[in-house]
Amino acid sequence: MTNVILIRFNEIHLKGGNKKYFTKLLHDNIRDTLHGINCKVENIQNRLLVRDYNEEDEIISKLKCVFGIHSISKAVELNSSVEEIEHYVAKLVVDTTFKCSVNRAEKSFPIKSNEFAAELGEIILNNNKTAKVDVHNPETIINVDIRENGKTYIFTNLIYAYSGLPLGENRDGLLLLSGGIDSPVAGFCMAKRGLRQDILHFDSFPYTSKLAKEKVISLAKKIKTFIGTKYMYVCSMTKLQEEFHIKCSTEYAINLLRRSMIRVANAICKKYKYKTIITGESLGQVASQTIESLITTNAVAEFPVMRPLISFNKEEIINIAKEINTYETSILPYEDCCTVFLPRNPIIKPKIADAEKEEGKIDLQNLLNYVINNIEIIKL
Ligand code: ATP
Ligand code: MG
Repeated sequence: MTNVILIRFNEIHLKGGNKKYFTKLLHDNIRDTLHGINCKVENIQNRLLVRDYNEEDEIISKLKCVFGIHSISKAVELNSSVEEIEHYVAKLVVDTTFKCSVNRAEKSFPIKSNEFAAELGEIILNNNKTAKVDVHNPETIINVDIRENGKTYIFTNLIYAYSGLPLGENRDGLLLLSGGIDSPVAGFCMAKRGLRQDILHFDSFPYTSKLAKEKVISLAKKIKTFIGTKYMYVCSMTKLQEEFHIKCSTEYAINLLRRSMIRVANAICKKYKYKTIITGESLGQVASQTIESLITTNAVAEFPVMRPLISFNKEEIINIAKEINTYETSILPYEDCCTVFLPRNPIIKPKIADAEKEEGKIDLQNLLNYVINNIEIIKL
């Protein structure tokens, strides 16, 4: 008998011919996540498992952050022999209502699932005076998973992970991360669909402080385990914002800043081969996120912009932020470059032609080149 951690996946089962590829991806991602912890990760048809470990709790808490995993169980591994399973079950201490649930993935196992579950139930009843069968609402479920590798896994616990798809091999996404609540959640949501992302942050030093930047770095470190980040790009928008402030209509300030952010993101995507830009925008949340504002910003995008929170309410976003442990950092009261030179009445329905007219008042290309040529790259 061996203690193991059994890992189940769900969506990967629907991948048909690509199932092998996705299972290997998940296997590799789990190995990366557990790097540095003594253990072995094994692929046993339709399940993965971890064996030869000491730090069970640490492994489980890390596995919970790996996308593609549906659920995890602490299990014992036995040989798939009727005698061995019965012998193990005979020693179980059960003092609650219970049922046995048998999954016979290995069809050559000699006893059918329901029959075997009834037999095992009998054994438990005979050995535990206070145990009682309840097939509808049992307090304990004794799961007996008979697998194709000649082994059977017995467990009573089920720890849920986030499901979704395993992070891809390449860092295809560029997440625009502010210090706010929304953008870390946006990164999490896209990663749940398998999109690995690096991070782009804009500051406006000295109008924004070093502490504000530190806050974003600590947010980046928090979401890195979920979204698979390696690099964070930090760009200073100070000169550009000063020019907008002096020469352009103040009601367009945020709109012009947003368009500039996307243009810088375009340049980084081209240079470092990202395929898509991700933001934490949510329709109607603020003036810069009305449909007209989004259209005016989108007009300069040369890559698809993904906005996974577009239909989310703030409360829904906050719930996820709390769940992934970014909320407390996000609400630390440091300024963002979007709050520097904030117009009192930002335009709610900007027009592309007017934004272009405002941009014509400054030497935009030169200023953008300056930003792009002075990117700081932080290895996370
Ligand atoms: P957040 O919580 O993400 O800051 P928000 O409600 O404050 O959201 P905005 O400030 O309008 O929203 O920003 C919308 C999106 O633009 C952000 O979710 C983020 O993706 C991007 N963004 C805003 N400011 C920055 C910044 N300083 N650096 C990088 N991206 C930014
Ligand atoms: Mg913000």
